[in-house]
Amino acid sequence: MSSTDLHPIAARLTRLRSVMHQQQIDALLIPSADPHLSEYLPARWQGREWLSGFTGSVGTLIVTPQFAGVWTDARYWTQAEQQLAGTGISLMKLSSGASIQYVDWLAATMQAGQTVAVDGNVLGLAIGRQLSLALQANDVRLRTEGDLLEQVWEERPGMPLSPVYPHLPPYATVSRADKLASLRAAMQKLGAQLHLISALDDIAYLFNLRGSDISFNPVFVAHALIDAQHATLFVSAGKIDAALQAALAADGVLLAPYDALAARLDQLPADCTLLIDPRRISYGTRQWIPARVQVLDAINPAIFAKSRKSEADLVHVRAAMEQDGAALCEFFSWLEATLADPQRAPLTELDIDREITVARARRPGFVSPSFATIAGFRSNGAIMHYRATPAQHAVIEGDGLLLIDSGGQYLGGTTDITRVVPVGRIEAAQQRDFTLVLKGMMALSATRFPRGCKSPMLDAIARAPLWAAGMDFGHGTGHGVGYFLNVHEGPQSISPSAMPEPHTAMEAGMITSIEPGLYRPGQWGIRIENLVHNRPAGTTEFGDFLEFETLTLCPIDTRCIELTLLRDDERQWLNDYHASVRQRLAPLLSGAALAWLQLRTEAV
Ligand code: ZN
Ligand code: ZN
Repeated sequence: MSSTDLHPIAARLTRLRSVMHQQQIDALLIPSADPHLSEYLPARWQGREWLSGFTGSVGTLIVTPQFAGVWTDARYWTQAEQQLAGTGISLMKLSSGASIQYVDWLAATMQAGQTVAVDGNVLGLAIGRQLSLALQANDVRLRTEGDLLEQVWEERPGMPLSPVYPHLPPYATVSRADKLASLRAAMQKLGAQLHLISALDDIAYLFNLRGSDISFNPVFVAHALIDAQHATLFVSAGKIDAALQAALAADGVLLAPYDALAARLDQLPADCTLLIDPRRISYGTRQWIPARVQVLDAINPAIFAKSRKSEADLVHVRAAMEQDGAALCEFFSWLEATLADPQRAPLTELDIDREITVARARRPGFVSPSFATIAGFRSNGAIMHYRATPAQHAVIEGDGLLLIDSGGQYLGGTTDITRVVPVGRIEAAQQRDFTLVLKGMMALSATRFPRGCKSPMLDAIARAPLWAAGMDFGHGTGHGVGYFLNVHEGPQSISPSAMPEPHTAMEAGMITSIEPGLYRPGQWGIRIENLVHNRPAGTTEFGDFLEFETLTLCPIDTRCIELTLLRDDERQWLNDYHASVRQRLAPLLSGAALAWLQLRTEAV
C-alpha cells in the first residue's frame, strides 16, 4: 500500500515517525496547549488536533514508533472513539481528576536511555516538572527544546496576526498608567523588581488592549515583562499600529518582537528578583530564565486586580446585561413563535446558535459571542460541553426540554447565561428536576457571606436542594467572569474541585456565575445560569459581609416550575427578579418581543 492510500491521519503519523527516527526520539508528547496556557487555542497550536483528528478541547497525544494514543476524559470518549476510528490511534480513557495518567504511562513504558520529546513552550510548568521527575527516576531523557511539528505540518497556520486595539474610555475605567502603577506597588510588596506575564487575559487587562487572535476571548498573543520604569510587550510585528505604539510609549510601554523574549530573559542581571506565576507560565518559558536570577513564585497580581471590577465597570456591565437580556427576549419570542407555526420548516439546534448570535449582534457594543453556544434538545441537553455540528444535531420538534447556554462579548462586559425552555408538553418529572435546580440557584443567589469567604465553600449551598432529593451534578457551580475578557477567569471558583485556598477568597466587585444543573443521560439536561456581582452587605461585630447582586436579566421559564415545591421566600425571590427583568428590559423592546417579556415575567 502506498502512503497515498493511508488514512490522512495515518500518513501524518508516518511522516512524524520518520522525523522522530532521524532525531532519535522514542516518544513524542503533544499536549493541547499554547505558550500562554490559554483555554482556547490559536490555530497554530492545535497540533494535537491536526495530528490525531480528534477535535475535543482536552486531550494529550503520545506517539512512539509502535503506538499512538490520545488521553482524554469521559466527556469526550464517544467523540474520540468516532474520530480516532481508522487512524491507528488508541483512545486512552482518563479517569476524572487524574490528568497526569499519561505521565505514569510514559514512566512505565519508556526504558532507560530512551528519549521523550515535547515542545516545552506548550507544556505547563507544573506538569513539566512532574514529567521531568518521573522520567529522571527511570533514566529516561526529556527533551523540551524544539517543536517537531514544524517539520511535519506543512500547512501549519502562522503566528496569529490580528491587529491589537485599545480598550478605551468610557469602557476602560482605569488608565493603563494607573494599572501599571498598582502592579508595581504589588511587585514591590512581594520584593520583585521584575515580573514576567504570559497569561493573555492578564496582559490584555493590564495594558487596556484587546485583540482577536483567539476565538471568543478578545485577547492577543504576547508576553509582558515589567520593571520599575518600563514594561515591554513581546508581540509580533505589525499587530500594533504607529498611533497605538505612541500611546503605549507615553505610558512607558515598549515593544519587542514576540520571539525576542528568550534573549531578553537571558540578559537579566544576577542580582534581580523576577516574579512569575508557576500556574501561568510554560515549562519552556521557565527554562529561559537563567539560573542566576532569583525567581519568586506567586500568583500574578493582575489576576486579583482584574477580578475586582470597579463601580464604574459595573455601570457598563449592567448596561451590557440589559442589551444582552433584550437580545435574548427577541430571540426567545422568535423561537416560541417559530415553534408554534405549523407552516414553518422544523428548527434545528444549529438555527438556535445562529439566531441567538444574530439577535445579540443587533445590540450596541456587541463584539462577538463569548464562547461556542450550547443548544441541546432532549438528551443532548444532558451532554456537558455539547456542540451541535452540521454533521450531528437534533431537530427541535415534539416534546422536550431545550437547554441553551450562550454569551456575548460587549465593550462594557462579558455575558454568560443558561436557560431551559419547554418545547411541546412538559412532564412532571422534568418540572421537579427544574424546580430543584432553580431552588439551588436561588439559594446561592440569596446568600450573604463574610468578605474573604473561600469561594469553593459556597458550592454546597447551590447543591443542597438537589442533595436533599438524592441528586447531584458533575460540574462546578460557578466561575469568575471577565470584563470584556475571558468568560472563565479566576481567582474565585465556586466548585468542589477547587481547593479553598486563600487566593480563592470572595472580594467586593467580583463577577461570578451561579449555574447549578441536573443531567439525566439519554433523557434531558437542565441548567440555570445567572451572573452575579459581589456587593458589600454591611459590617457586623463579625466583620464585613458581601451579598450577590444578580446581573443577568432574562426570564426564567415558569412553565417548567412545580410551584408546590417553592417556599414563600423562593416565590418572592423569583417574582422580584422577574419584576426587575421586566422593568429594565421593557424600555429596550417593542412588538412581539415586548409582549413575550410581559408574558414570561408574570408573577407566580
Ligand atoms: Zn454558560
Ligand atoms: Zn458559565
